[in-house]
Amino acid sequence: MARILINDGIAPEGQRMLEAAGIEVHNFKIPQDELPSRLPAYNGICVRSATQVRKELISLCPQLKVIGRGGVGLDNIDVEFAQSRKIKVVNTPAASSRSVAELSMAHMLSLSRFLYQSNREMPVRGADEFEKLKKNYTNGIELDGKKLGIIGFGQIGREMASVALGMGMQILPVDPYVNEATIKMGSGLYSTFFSIKTVAFEKMLEESDFISLHIPHIGKPILGEKEFGRMKKGAIIVNCSRGGTVDEAALLHFLNNETIAACGLDVFDNEPHPDSRLLSHARISLSPHIGASTREAQLKVSTELAVKVIEALKGF
Ligand code: NAD
Repeated sequence: MARILINDGIAPEGQRMLEAAGIEVHNFKIPQDELPSRLPAYNGICVRSATQVRKELISLCPQLKVIGRGGVGLDNIDVEFAQSRKIKVVNTPAASSRSVAELSMAHMLSLSRFLYQSNREMPVRGADEFEKLKKNYTNGIELDGKKLGIIGFGQIGREMASVALGMGMQILPVDPYVNEATIKMGSGLYSTFFSIKTVAFEKMLEESDFISLHIPHIGKPILGEKEFGRMKKGAIIVNCSRGGTVDEAALLHFLNNETIAACGLDVFDNEPHPDSRLLSHARISLSPHIGASTREAQLKVSTELAVKVIEALKGF
């Protein structure tokens, strides 16, 4: 019987599927420094982003057949080394795409109607200032008919397009590796498919009312001083991708000179200790890296991971 360690948790549905397939599941946390002595007893390990599965650890585990990563990135796993040892590395790249896209849309809606500000100010200012506060928030905008630049037209970028099309937005996606993609809107009987072409980066920068980022870390920020300088006055930026994709100093500068009207941030350069100027800024809507943190995403992560781990351990 194969035995696997679930070291960063898994939703119960995934665990049940693994057990039903005859796999012995140990769902508890072994601290990183104890893994070298305890992981050799396992044939598989499933992690999220917390546990590091580096080559020093892998080389101590000759019985390891599969490393499962619930989620997208594989930064915490030495994938090539594992594969050179004939260990399968599996992940669940699409399981949280809808959740991330919906959080990006939540930031856009919150910013366009000042919800993030009124939720901060109303409890502090109290009932006496109701009318005064109301006047501060009269200049909201609709999303209908606005142009949305999407940077990165992969799994999440396409879900973002689907959500935004539902709001009546026009889509301006950019992606050097994608010319055109099919977007599904709605579900079941009411689903419709659209084919959307990517556009030139400059066009997206200059025409977008909103810009939402959905790229991996590419070594340097894709939005810096030069790019902010080319944006439409009053543009709104949302980043639910990765810290490091936006130059935070340039973002603050262009927020403060009012080129950028407002910004939504789920990810930060210095997580888990973001720049305090971002946290206290009056025109930034904040969330603490919770893009994938929905019940649905957790369920999809656990069941997709279970299917892939069961497949990888077939014939064991
Ligand atoms: P994906 O690989 O499906 O899509 C990324 C896309 O970016 C690809 O199509 C790629 O061609 C494109 N790209 C690469 N370099 C580019 C560039 N220079 N300009 C424009 N496009 C470029 O990945 P995904 O699943 O859509 O994830 C997107 C990002 O969202 C990743 O950084 C991921 O880590 C992040 N993410 C965040 C959360 C969260 O909690 N906020 C959760 C899940 C994923």
